[in-house]
Amino acid sequence: MSKGDKAQDRRGGRRRDRGGVPDRLRRAPASYGDRSNRVVYVACEGSKTEPDYVSLLNKTYGRDKNFWLKYCYPGHTNGLDPVETVEQVLMEAGPGDEKWALFDRDADDNRDRKIPDAMRLAADEGVQAALSHPSFELWLLLHFQHWTGQEHGHDEKVKDRLRRHKDAKGFKDYDKASGDRGKGLNDERGKALLGREAAAVRNARKLVKACPSGRCSADRIEKIAPLPADGTEKYAEWTARTGHAPGCDPLKRDPSTDVWRLLVGLGLGTEEDGGR
Ligand SMILES: [Zn+2]
Repeated sequence: MSKGDKAQDRRGGRRRDRGGVPDRLRRAPASYGDRSNRVVYVACEGSKTEPDYVSLLNKTYGRDKNFWLKYCYPGHTNGLDPVETVEQVLMEAGPGDEKWALFDRDADDNRDRKIPDAMRLAADEGVQAALSHPSFELWLLLHFQHWTGQEHGHDEKVKDRLRRHKDAKGFKDYDKASGDRGKGLNDERGKALLGREAAAVRNARKLVKACPSGRCSADRIEKIAPLPADGTEKYAEWTARTGHAPGCDPLKRDPSTDVWRLLVGLGLGTEEDGGR
């Protein structure tokens, strides 16, 4: 296949790939075109906390920082597994779009195969993966304090600490209350997180250095550049973007969270950002 044919195939492929997507899930050009020129597609494993967080970033920083995170809603609220999360963003975004997939280690769901498969698929398809080990709640906790406790994929201690932290206003009943209140980030919880992004990024970077492999560090990573549009980057190069060494097993990055990379990529939580 010639280079031109390949390009044509990719363009055509996008249309075909999206053939089965219901109209309500398709990108509506006018829906966010006035908000920003930079659209970043984000799919999340969780169906409440992460989408609320994406919305919080849009509302608070989207206009100033010129981005719009397009949450790729799966059409139901049951959550996705890691592989499905990567597939979800691929279904909505095209080859040239910026794509992120957020998912957790979460040992309770028996992810030993799903996590590496999701990482491989993401690398092959030009998707940035933000793995949180044990879960996304670690990222939230890092806004308030550093955390190095290993839970081997379980997150009860992380959540418990989040509920009890004096600065984590509103989190007291996190994942205990019913309905939206349970795992939502609206109102008080969202406000408690805002302005602490730089601390969360710093703490998450420290965890890369503390990775049990002993060979990982995010010290030299300053900018988070979008992936090449064609998704041709090798797995080792793709992994190097996270600060983790080649061969560092994602299942053993305990604890860690890559969500800091999404923020830095948006210009948040950096020194230039005023130390937010
Ligand atoms: Zn590592």
